[in-house]
Amino acid sequence: MSIARFWRETPRRYNLGGSKCTMCGTAYFPPRAVCPTCAHHRESIEKMVPFQLSGDGEVFSYTVVHEAAEGFEMQVPYALALVRTVEGPVLTGQIVDVIPEEVRIGLKVRATFRKLREEGKAGVIHYGYKFAPAEELPTPPHGGASAAARSSATKESDRASA
Ligand SMILES: [Zn+2]
Repeated sequence: MSIARFWRETPRRYNLGGSKCTMCGTAYFPPRAVCPTCAHHRESIEKMVPFQLSGDGEVFSYTVVHEAAEGFEMQVPYALALVRTVEGPVLTGQIVDVIPEEVRIGLKVRATFRKLREEGKAGVIHYGYKFAPAEELPTPPHGGASAAARSSATKESDRASA
């Protein structure tokens, strides 16, 4: 699927805006103002353009977290992975919609916009990207929230194709 088509079908569900060097073609996330690869060339300054990552990638390293940080208590155990995107940049993110035992190096994943954590009694909710498998894998039995997210994602794709 082309990046343009991906973004039409997934309107603004998350934002993976990085930058790309127009001199050497290297993509960066988060965005950079100067390309370190071309840094010795003065011309690389102001040669960076905004660049949207597709959100597709694969796991190249991961760890299973059993002890939750504050605000993440409901989510353990979960897999935290380094994901190499198809465009090149490496992102760190939680792998959702799968039991941690199924996560493996080389697993194809796709970025998805999810609730990251909830803060205190005021319930300040932080959103951001996580990664879900791009293939069908066993899902966690306690995944009430992620099951709801999946069904709403299905509805959205139904609308997009209608
Ligand atoms: Zn460059």
